[in-house]
Amino acid sequence: MDYADSILDLIGNTPLVRLNSVTDGIEATVLAKLEYLNPGGSVKDRIAAKLVEEAERSGQLAPGGTIVEPTSGNTGVGLALVAQQRGYGMVCVTPDKVGEEKRDVLRAYGASVAVVSTSVAPDSPESYYGVSDALAEAIPGAFKPDQFNNPAAPQAHYESTGPEIWRDTDGLVTHFVAGAGTGGTVTGTGRYLKEVSASRDGGPVRIVVSDPQGSVYSGGAGQPYFVEGVGEDMWPANYDPSVPDEVVAVTDAEAFAMTRRLAREEGLLVGGSSGMAVVGALRIARDLPADAVVVVLLPDSGRGYLGKVFNDSWMAERGFEVREGEQVPFVPGV
Ligand code: PMP
Repeated sequence: MDYADSILDLIGNTPLVRLNSVTDGIEATVLAKLEYLNPGGSVKDRIAAKLVEEAERSGQLAPGGTIVEPTSGNTGVGLALVAQQRGYGMVCVTPDKVGEEKRDVLRAYGASVAVVSTSVAPDSPESYYGVSDALAEAIPGAFKPDQFNNPAAPQAHYESTGPEIWRDTDGLVTHFVAGAGTGGTVTGTGRYLKEVSASRDGGPVRIVVSDPQGSVYSGGAGQPYFVEGVGEDMWPANYDPSVPDEVVAVTDAEAFAMTRRLAREEGLLVGGSSGMAVVGALRIARDLPADAVVVVLLPDSGRGYLGKVFNDSWMAERGFEVREGEQVPFVPGV
């Protein structure tokens, strides 16, 4: 019989698929790594498992313990999944601007959800970080993973994402492209790929960050943008700027148009940060020869964004173009 012992054993080992339509005119092979096929639906399952494993090893988490993290998105889902399976409590602190549906996902996995107001000052005890600190103090046996600073997060990618890409491309990968939020993905995966390819003919794997325009990683000052989960207005400890060889700035309009194309042309229903990553990958791939192999990481599913990038009114209200021909034609009588 072929089965996994638990859902946690199904984290990672995500497949690569070649992009065939959006790559029109490009000679290089562009392969997408599908992180939405992780059990919790995103790349963040990988770090959730590692953050908990390391906390158990160091004694920061013990039986009866509770994980407390200010997160409403993919990291919350990953941690809720791992906490449940390992027998810990999970409290996610979420800002009130986050949609109820995201909180419902966390509750469905058994997590408790604290809601904080976004209209208070960041240093107030009632803020996002203030409340999560207070809860971590008040709950006996509480552990705060701190995904922006905890070295276990990039380590998860160094030990899993990087080796998987190297293995699945038979060591032929020439470029790795990803977005950076906390920086864990690009730091850990990029570090591994550079090390393992350091002495091969043709040089090491080139690491490229695809970044929302306005984010500090691509030289912005933290101006706002709509793509979620990527870019920063500060420099987190888990982003090692010595790893990327290149950072490409991508606008919301480019990222969203590509996100919609990935669903319609490649059958990949993925989030806006995936579209953004692919825009960066194609910009690099355009100038590469036929034997180049570009791997681009797609962090999560498009299901969480049906009311945003995939909603024509939401797009139009924010001034993003919805292309002619993307609309379903009106068929009388149907
Ligand atoms: N895309 C999405 C949708 C995310 O939630 C995240 C995590 N913030 C990322 C990309 C970036 O990953 P990392 O934090 O490892 O840089």
